[in-house]
Amino acid sequence: MELKVLHLTPRELKVELAGTTTPQANAIRRALLTDVPKLAIEDVEFHLGPIRDETTGKDYDSSTSMFDEAVALRLGLLPIPTDLGQFRRKSECTCKGEGCPHCQVMYSIDKKGPCTVYARDLTPLGDPSLAILEPEVPIVQLGARQALLAYATAVVGSARDHSKWQVAHAVGVQPAAEVRIQKKPGCSDTCLKRLASSAPAGLLEFSGGKLTYTGGEDPSKAVLLLGTQRYCEHGSLQVRLNEDDHFLRLETDGSLTAREAFRYALKDLKGRFEELREAVQAIP
Ligand SMILES: [Zn+2]
Repeated sequence: MELKVLHLTPRELKVELAGTTTPQANAIRRALLTDVPKLAIEDVEFHLGPIRDETTGKDYDSSTSMFDEAVALRLGLLPIPTDLGQFRRKSECTCKGEGCPHCQVMYSIDKKGPCTVYARDLTPLGDPSLAILEPEVPIVQLGARQALLAYATAVVGSARDHSKWQVAHAVGVQPAAEVRIQKKPGCSDTCLKRLASSAPAGLLEFSGGKLTYTGGEDPSKAVLLLGTQRYCEHGSLQVRLNEDDHFLRLETDGSLTAREAFRYALKDLKGRFEELREAVQAIP
C-alpha cells in the first residue's frame, strides 16, 4: 500500500491509496465514521426553581423556550477539542468510571434573559483550551424573565454509541479511473459536443473538432465521467476503473485534526485484526 497526500488542512484530508482494494478502503472509511473517539457532552444538570441576580436583586424563572432535553441534545452536538493522549473512555480509566480529569470535562452555563445563549457561553471549569470549537452556534433564546443555569459533563465516546461522538464527516472513497478519448467510426461532432456538455464540472472540452479531458491535474476526478460515457453510443469516451487504486477524503468537526482521525482509524483497524490473528493462533 502506498499513500500520497493530495490535500491536507487541519480539518480536511484527501489521499490516494495505491495498492488498495475497494473493501480495504471501505474498511478505513467505516472505521473513520464509527470508531474514532472524542469528547462530547453526555450529562447536563439543570438548576430548577427561581434564580436570583445578586447584583440587581431581580428574580428569574429557570426555564427557556425549549424543553431541557432539547437544550441538552444541542449541547451534546457541540465540538470539543479532544487530546486522545490526555483523555480516555470512562470504562478504560484508572478511576474505574467514577470520573476524573482524564475521562471527563465539566462545563457551566449561566445566562439571564433577554438574550440568545451561544456555544461560547458554555465555559469549561478549569483548562480554557477545552472551550467549544464553534463559539457562534446558537443554543436557545431566553425571554425577559428567563434564565439558564446548568452544569454539563463531557465524556469520551465514539459514534457507535451516538452520532454526537462522530469525529469524521463526509468520508468518501472512490476508485481511480482512466479516461480514454478516441473518436470512433460513425461518431460525429454533435456526439462529441453532447459528451462535453453532459460532463460534470466541465471535465470535457470540445473545441476545434477535438474532445479533450480537462481534469488532468486532479487524478481523482476521472471517475466522475463514468456516467457520461453513455452520451456517445459509439464508445468515443471510455472510462476504466482501476480497482487497485483509491482516493479517500474526509473532514472532521475539529475535535481531532483530519490527520489524527485518519491515524486513529488505521491504528484501530490494525488492533482489531491483531486480536483476530491471536484468536486464530489460539485454535489448537
Ligand atoms: Zn477517570
